[in-house]
Amino acid sequence: PPAVAARALTKVYGEGDARVHALRGVDVSFATGAFTAIMGPSGSGKSTLMHCLAGLDTATSGTVHIGDVELTGLGDRRLTQLRRERIGFVFQSFNLLPTLTAEQNIRLPLDIAARQADEALFDRVVDTVGLRDRLRHRPSELSGGQQQRVAVARALIGKPQVIFADEPTGNLDSRSGAEILSFLRTSVRELGQTIVMVTHDPVAASYADRVVFLRDGELVTEVAAPTPETVL
Ligand code: ADP
Ligand code: ADP
Repeated sequence: PPAVAARALTKVYGEGDARVHALRGVDVSFATGAFTAIMGPSGSGKSTLMHCLAGLDTATSGTVHIGDVELTGLGDRRLTQLRRERIGFVFQSFNLLPTLTAEQNIRLPLDIAARQADEALFDRVVDTVGLRDRLRHRPSELSGGQQQRVAVARALIGKPQVIFADEPTGNLDSRSGAEILSFLRTSVRELGQTIVMVTHDPVAASYADRVVFLRDGELVTEVAAPTPETVL
């Protein structure tokens, strides 16, 4: 099966006159090892789609599979377990714990799962994202860009099968953004990971193998082997 698949996915927020159809029957799948970008105007449903795919939000109807597991049928405990074992997240708002250092934040998913870190991978990730001399700093002592790097490192450290990233380079200058995106792309290839990334940035999207476009809650088009020009 694909690493992630959605069938006839709909999401309605609110009730009565306030109803918003955020997703209107989305069919999409993400092959194992693929790096896909989701683009589309603000309000087109990108975040909602990602949250539903990642099991962070419940769709109104339709199905989501992570590998051979169907999310809608899972209880909270099994869903949490599946997220911990198989999924890495990079949120727009970082979601770092303020009382922990950068290193503790990066290692947190492993600590929660009582798993040993792959120390060689830890070193490689920390050096690539440029945090070597910031490991003992707390989030409040880091710039926005540095906090974003911590969030990226934290998502990679457990070698999850699937990484969901919401604007992972939105707070970085273009050079550090490019470093992190090429690292993500390499990591996908080496470890066979699957990445689903929401972005507004055509340059960021051009690192993906495929770009899918949402508009008004529907998947309207897709581009294979994107370049910054073909996804503008
Ligand atoms: P995007 O990520 O593409 O900007 P979103 O998925 O955030 O789009 O939003 C899609 C639509 O759903 C928008 O019209 C938005 O206003 C609405 N929406 C998103 N989250 C909520 C929510 N929690 N309650 C009500 N409406 C929401
Ligand atoms: P980045 O490109 O990683 O976002 P910036 O150019 O924003 O970094 O910041 C440059 C340096 O200034 C950083 O190395 C960081 O140590 C420091 N810095 C920036 N913002 C903050 C902050 N809010 N608190 C503490 N230090 C900061």
